Amino acid sequence: MMLPTFELLEPKSLDEALAALADGGGTPMAGGTNLLPDLRARGKADGRFISLSEIGELRRIDHGEGRAVVGAGTTLTDILRDPAMPTAAPSLVAAAKVFAGSMVRNAATIGGNICYGSPAADIVPPLLSLDAEVALASSRGTRTLALKNYFLDYKKTAKRPDELLISVSWTLPEPGAANLFHKLGRRRGDAITVTGVAVTLAAKEGKCSKARIALGAVAPTVFRAKDAEDALLGKALTEEMIDAAAHAAADACRPIDDIRASADYRLHTAHVLVRRLLMQAWEQVT
Ligand SMILES: Cc1cc2nc3c(=O)[nH]c(=O)nc-3n(C[C@H](O)[C@H](O)[C@H](O)COP(=O)(O)OP(=O)(O)OC[C@H]3O[C@@H](n4cnc5c(N)ncnc54)[C@H](O)[C@@H]3O)c2cc1C
Repeated sequence: MMLPTFELLEPKSLDEALAALADGGGTPMAGGTNLLPDLRARGKADGRFISLSEIGELRRIDHGEGRAVVGAGTTLTDILRDPAMPTAAPSLVAAAKVFAGSMVRNAATIGGNICYGSPAADIVPPLLSLDAEVALASSRGTRTLALKNYFLDYKKTAKRPDELLISVSWTLPEPGAANLFHKLGRRRGDAITVTGVAVTLAAKEGKCSKARIALGAVAPTVFRAKDAEDALLGKALTEEMIDAAAHAAADACRPIDDIRASADYRLHTAHVLVRRLLMQAWEQVT
């Protein structure tokens, strides 16, 4: 089906885009890889679109002073091409490698993946496992929010209609920490995630000093399994402890049945993947 006709503004600066958003609104469009298929499926366009693709300041990656800052307009391909990213965010690189195909990766942005609010968004578990923060701007100013507080419910986020997500940032993983991601899909390429898991583990003197477990596609939003994380902290981890934490993570899931997998299968795979990644991570950090 053809795309319906729609009005598209093409601001050249962030201020211009924010003014357009404040003045009568509109829908921001980054790579369009979520929006354009949705438009085509609906067959009609309501309101206007504000393209972000000409705003250079949204497309940047900085690794200064122990912190990585990635502009919302940075594409998945940009992430894969950045030489420092494998150290700054190993899980994010792992997610980018299994994200769609190269044509979509060239257009799809980090900001679009976060803002669409899909529970199956692949870059979100890695970012949650890195304690990322998002910066949101409107013509009234900029605010920063922990990414874990950004997702409110299925496709509902804390972003206000007049705000743009401008960047996502995180403290670089401490030396020796493990940061892993695994995506389970129906096939190897171009598949929507059935279950996605990212973990970060660190150890001090043989005990777990940091644990982050983030799960995708198994609840209305991507989320962190806090009880499972807490069960690991301060302990010299054994296989039994890791298995119990993986059960706690699966208990926190609220999956649905859909065409890709049953809720039961998602629960099972959440347990298996969390256990597997925690085992691998613990081996790396000790
Ligand atoms: C064939 C195909 C395969 C795909 N495979 C995957 C996959 O493997 N994993 C995955 O997670 N996703 C996948 N997707 C979904 C999509 O590519 C991603 O979610 C992508 O990151 C969206 O980014 P975008 O720049 O294209 O967003 P857009 O479609 O432009 O926008 C998405 C949403 O975010 C809003 N938005 C975008 N940028 C901003 C901003 N800076 N501030 C405020 N709001 C903003 C838009 O208004 C819209 O609501 C796939 C899509 C297709 C078509």
